[in-house]
Amino acid sequence: MTALDKRSGNQEKVSSGTSDGDGGGKVSASGKLPAEIGTDYSFKRRIVWKNALGFVALHVAALYGLYLAIFYAHPATSICAIIIALASAEGVTIGAHRLYSHKTFKAKFSLRLALNILQTIAGQNCLYIWVRDHRLHHKYSDTDADPHNAHRGFFFSHMGWLMSKKHPAVIEKGKTIDMSDLEADPVVMFQKEYYKPLYAVFAIALPVAIPVYFWNENYVNSFFISYMLRYIVVLHATWLVNSAAHLYGTKPFDKFILPVESKFVAFISIGEGWHNYHHSFPWDYRAAELGSKYCMTTYIIDLLAYFGLAYDLKSAPYTMIRKRAIRTGDGSHFVYGQKRIKWGEMVSEEGGNDERMYQLEENVVAKGISLPEVGQRAVAVQG
Ligand SMILES: [Zn+2]
Ligand SMILES: [Zn+2]
Repeated sequence: MTALDKRSGNQEKVSSGTSDGDGGGKVSASGKLPAEIGTDYSFKRRIVWKNALGFVALHVAALYGLYLAIFYAHPATSICAIIIALASAEGVTIGAHRLYSHKTFKAKFSLRLALNILQTIAGQNCLYIWVRDHRLHHKYSDTDADPHNAHRGFFFSHMGWLMSKKHPAVIEKGKTIDMSDLEADPVVMFQKEYYKPLYAVFAIALPVAIPVYFWNENYVNSFFISYMLRYIVVLHATWLVNSAAHLYGTKPFDKFILPVESKFVAFISIGEGWHNYHHSFPWDYRAAELGSKYCMTTYIIDLLAYFGLAYDLKSAPYTMIRKRAIRTGDGSHFVYGQKRIKWGEMVSEEGGNDERMYQLEENVVAKGISLPEVGQRAVAVQG
């Protein structure tokens, strides 16, 4: 490893774990700013036909699963598939994303083990590769070094990237990502080493066997619903975070980046659609300003923390969120957007100042009032 590589590796550690979220502009191994990598639109993508045809086959199989679920299968098979889908999605959101990629909290061994199993069920590659790609995505967001660069459009960032040859910048910068924390985790390294057999057991055999064993579902129905359909649905929910949540929505925290706030994606992806916030404060375990909004994931992490399985939860204080929203937001923030900033200025004219607004927020937040109510209170004070 060269000195430059080491330097870049350390910076990744900072940007993915402990920075204040204003992380844009970090210097890469080549000495270039991420923004300078940019998107080369003349670059011709090479299709990996094996993957492309594989995805076509998977979708046909999933559609057949949907048909079986509606007309032939035991209703319990579909309910079971939904439960497995949600559990595996939490393996991705709580495990791969918030715990391992961003280190937003720490987890006891038993929780890490459970999250590794659930993430295996989701079938989105082993944790190690998932995390490396995701750290790369944050460090070089929407440039050629981002595996799913949204500047290349909806389809590419959604699933096209998985059936294209990697851009050379993805390979080059991927090597600079510091993965030492995952390499030090025996659970992650065990999953990496034995991913294929683990996948066969946890993602295919077990989900297919449960309906067959407990309510005599036939193997064909169970395979196409509990494995194929369930797998594809969770994949699309995850992919929407990379595509729709980088393209269609508002940017209350940072108008200079592509990621947006998307209610729709937040709902579909159990809380990962508040993506402008997440890219602004990637180390916040809630991945949203209003942590619990449409977000089962954050409730579950809170619950795990209550039982001591998760600890050292990191979240951004309101004052930091407010500063960021006013400084770089697009004005769509419900408290600190254009209208509210005017109110802030009025307070200043009246002899009050920023400090007063700050205290007002801190007081109401201390009383356990949620931020939307802070907005209303601000208006009330104005009146
Ligand atoms: Zn993103
Ligand atoms: Zn992330």
